[in-house]
Amino acid sequence: MIKLIRPYIKLQEVQADFNEIFESGIFTRGPYCDQLVTALKEYTGAKHVFLATSATTALWATLKVLGVKPGDEVIVSDFSFPASANVIEDLGAIPVFADVSLETYNANLEDIERKLSPKTKAVMFVDALGNPSGIKKVREFCRSKKIPLVEDAACAMGSLVDGVPLGGVSDFTCFSFHPRKLLTAGEGGCICTNNDDYADQLKVKLMHGAQVEPSGKMNFVDVGFNFRMSELQATMVLHQLKHLNQIVTRRRKFQTELTREVEKYDFIPQKAETGVIHNVQSLTYTVPKRDDVSKKLKELGVESTLGTYSQSSTTYYAKKYSSVQKNSLFLQNNTLTLPCHDEVEPAELAKLIGKVFR
Ligand SMILES: *Cc1c(COP(=O)(O)O)cnc(C)c1O
Repeated sequence: MIKLIRPYIKLQEVQADFNEIFESGIFTRGPYCDQLVTALKEYTGAKHVFLATSATTALWATLKVLGVKPGDEVIVSDFSFPASANVIEDLGAIPVFADVSLETYNANLEDIERKLSPKTKAVMFVDALGNPSGIKKVREFCRSKKIPLVEDAACAMGSLVDGVPLGGVSDFTCFSFHPRKLLTAGEGGCICTNNDDYADQLKVKLMHGAQVEPSGKMNFVDVGFNFRMSELQATMVLHQLKHLNQIVTRRRKFQTELTREVEKYDFIPQKAETGVIHNVQSLTYTVPKRDDVSKKLKELGVESTLGTYSQSSTTYYAKKYSSVQKNSLFLQNNTLTLPCHDEVEPAELAKLIGKVFR
């Protein structure tokens, strides 16, 4: 079976650090988490980085410090894993779904503008499948309207816009370290921000609502949660971060080579706009008769899946808001994600796809 996902992390790489963590007995809030924060600041250019248990909790904490509350609206890209809308909904606010481009799969600025209302508290732009195309215009728009912008960059670590990594530009950028993403800690995430005030609040929110005084004393000034990452997880991400550029280069080359072979079957790849380096977190195409192709690939030993979801058309959101977005629904039903990792070669995969059409 050619698996859809094979994480890049190797046990040998982290073994020495794991030994040290077990010897020290420091499993949380220790030197590896500190080192990872420093490394992520350096990589992203963000002034503040907070580690979290997942992108979902990172996004939740972000909206919480933005003061998102019942009755507020948050405009969110429709084509995404439903965690994006769930955090909005969970805070009692209304997710307002923005339809997406059939080329990049990302929210259209025109639709964001159309859906803006006096109740709009924030915009959540999703870098769909790691692709940040369109973000520049949305950043300008949000800045001009003074609306906070949250980037759901769960998939997008390693992508670049005009040569600059994500994380250091938008008000907030949230990443994931789930095994489906390029860097994994099993579970995990982080929040990047340049805003000092929000950073002070996040620090407290992620620490049970406590300010930690220099003496180490906890002063519980707010309510909060434990959304912290562990030392074992931090060292896993630290090691993989060193290989990030190499991972992205190889995935992009894989995409170029496979696309050349499958265009004849009318496979159309997800597009990136000029100036964007897409990390190809998912190698995704719109494909005629997607479900048939996926089924036949499975018979040939190749795992595949859909691109991602039209959040507005999931059972819960369709029932509650009846605002299904057309392009996003099309992408949910017609995109195919193929394996793209170190244990498969593009030529090998192209040959198997060829068999589907013979
Ligand atoms: C994976 C993903 C999430 C959730 O990330 P977790 O770390 O698993 O919580 C959120 N948004 C998008 C776009 C994702 O792809």
